[in-house]
Amino acid sequence: MVAQVAQVLQNPRRLAALYELGMLDTPAEQAFDRLSRLAARILKTPVALVSLVDSDRQFFKSCLGLPEPWSRWRETPLSHSFCQHVVATGQPLVVPDARRDPHLLDNLAIRDLNVIAYLGSPLILSGGQVIGSFCVIDTKPRAWTDEQISIVRDLAASVMTEIGLRHASSELERRVQERTRDLRTTNEALSESESRYRELVELAADGIFISDADGRFIEVNAAGCELSGYAREEVLSRGFNDLIPGTDREHDPPRLEELHAGRTIVRERRVLHKDGTIVPVEISVKQLPSGRLQGIVRDITARKKVEAERERLLAELAARNVEMESFIYTISHDLKTPLITINGFASVLAQMLPRGDTPEARDSLAEIAKAAEVMKKHIEDLLTLSRIGRVVAEMNALSMDVFLTEVLSNFAQRLRSANGRVELAPDLPTLLVARDGFIRVFSNLLDNAIKYRRPEAPLVIEIGWRHDAGEIRLFVRDNGQGIKPQFQHRIFGLFQRADSRTEGTGVGLAISKRVVETHGGTMWVESQPGQGSTFWIGLPGSALIEP
Ligand code: ADP
Repeated sequence: MVAQVAQVLQNPRRLAALYELGMLDTPAEQAFDRLSRLAARILKTPVALVSLVDSDRQFFKSCLGLPEPWSRWRETPLSHSFCQHVVATGQPLVVPDARRDPHLLDNLAIRDLNVIAYLGSPLILSGGQVIGSFCVIDTKPRAWTDEQISIVRDLAASVMTEIGLRHASSELERRVQERTRDLRTTNEALSESESRYRELVELAADGIFISDADGRFIEVNAAGCELSGYAREEVLSRGFNDLIPGTDREHDPPRLEELHAGRTIVRERRVLHKDGTIVPVEISVKQLPSGRLQGIVRDITARKKVEAERERLLAELAARNVEMESFIYTISHDLKTPLITINGFASVLAQMLPRGDTPEARDSLAEIAKAAEVMKKHIEDLLTLSRIGRVVAEMNALSMDVFLTEVLSNFAQRLRSANGRVELAPDLPTLLVARDGFIRVFSNLLDNAIKYRRPEAPLVIEIGWRHDAGEIRLFVRDNGQGIKPQFQHRIFGLFQRADSRTEGTGVGLAISKRVVETHGGTMWVESQPGQGSTFWIGLPGSALIEP
């Protein structure tokens, strides 16, 4: 009997169910005490208990009428427990006089708690586990009636209802707490991912914005502010249209219908920067379900520059091709002319040979030599031209004063015989240029000034400079024949000559201009026919070392 009772009491599943209720060692509660009081009153007993039977004790969730110290301790060891038998059998235990019951007469509750009569009904969980007993106790023998037994059973059921309610509500509370916790983590996860997203947006190299349906900005990232030059608050007080040049708005209005139709619009536009400059951008915009617009703006200045540079190179290539064609045409022509001369005089010479050494034969030989010389000059010029730009020139710091004096020394003889003089400006700068190339440029300009002078006027050549619009402009001015307006820009082309009376190949100015272009500059002429010409050499300001 004792062993059987112990086996049931120690059943792990029973104990687990009991512990799960979480009622052991908890304070007394009105709901249970009310049931105990009711039982004691109806059954007229001094004691009524809600007893939860643990593995080694019974704990009284409600404890009415027990003597001290038990009533204070609210528990007894199993040695003092009748309730354990209710749990062991799962049936009501009806004891009229314990002293006469062979199973109970040794129970210490008789001696210590004065338990004589006992009526208990099991507390059974819906899962079938018996966790304790609801009982009434009397200190004198009692003959329990069936009705009293059924009252105790009903009250035990009420205790279970109360426990069930408690369990359900604590389960509910646990779930609510769990859900709240889940919700919190979900919210935390959401706000964490949102802040991560914001960080990403903020770090993006492209401008990212959200505007209302009318294009007034609501959000903008750092790149968007930087692109427009405005601070964030300034951007947010503006609309899309404020950042676009007015003319663009007229020529290329926003395509709102397409946006409203849900299409993502990608287009190139221009943004009016706060400092007044224009920034080319590529914008992709989409309308959000809320009606707001969301967009990405990319600065395409670099791309545009590359495109423009490509266009420029293509145009230059095309121009070079045209130049090359005319070059090939002219060169074949110009090289053929002396050859025809050579050929003609060679056959004259052949006819004369039998007659021996005659003055005509010498003349013919001289003509042949002259024609060969012309060809040589042509070929040398061509070689020079082909070298410029192909070979990277060494750059030197040239004090123009010293440099030009040196170049002029080669012209001293010719200037004297032409009765000419050169006036060098007193304030010539020091420039970073290719010395060899500049010797060619100035030699050619001086050579031309002498060649195309007016015999009637003493030749005066002025060389000076200006620092103009960030550019260095050197000039060589003469008081010679001048050049007719229609020839003025052509003379810089290959083999272009405006004067057939004077000797020349028409390559000099082409070479000069090419040299200046390899310095990032250009050449042009201003001239009055019959009065003189001024040849200009324009160089980027960076060429200036010392004024
Ligand atoms: P070249 O002198 O060998 O003909 P250039 O290319 O040096 O070739 O000059 C091209 C043409 O420009 C010349 O044929 C001439 O008609 C004209 N020209 C150049 N310099 C002067 C000048 N200082 N005054 C007048 N005409 C000039």
